[in-house]
Amino acid sequence: MLQPAAIDGLAFARSAGVLKGRLGMESLPRLAQSGCSGSVVDFVLTGEINERGKPGLRLAVDGSVRLQCQRCLGNLDLSLRLEARLELAASEAEILAADDDMERVVAGREMRVAALVEDEVLLALPMVPKHEQCSAAAGLGADTKPSAFQALATLKKRSLSGG
Ligand SMILES: [Zn+2]
Repeated sequence: MLQPAAIDGLAFARSAGVLKGRLGMESLPRLAQSGCSGSVVDFVLTGEINERGKPGLRLAVDGSVRLQCQRCLGNLDLSLRLEARLELAASEAEILAADDDMERVVAGREMRVAALVEDEVLLALPMVPKHEQCSAAAGLGADTKPSAFQALATLKKRSLSGG
């Protein structure tokens, strides 16, 4: 299934376009640069005229990314689900002049869909990725050595008492 790689932002918004797709790491180079070693994300991009009468985009992303835990340096698989709304601005100046919380992007005739998705995914990533329950945080180290030592200790005790 071929997807258009880019949309004409204003036309897409005005026609309430809908675009669905799936992106892998090969389409998300900046994610790779930020330390992500694997990712598959499904997205739905929808064009709209928002309640302020401005053209905009809605983006829903559902997927997972593989990061490195900054405590134990092990793999950290993070599921990702986000929804974003972007208002299309006519220029960079319009974005700078705006003083509300609305997220804006300059409308283009060829807005790369993968880049739009990647922007939102990057924003959603934790600054310092960590396991919620990290083995390193529990004082056990990143591997299983302590339990191996424990097993050895148990073995010694047994041989002492048994022999
Ligand atoms: Zn960890």
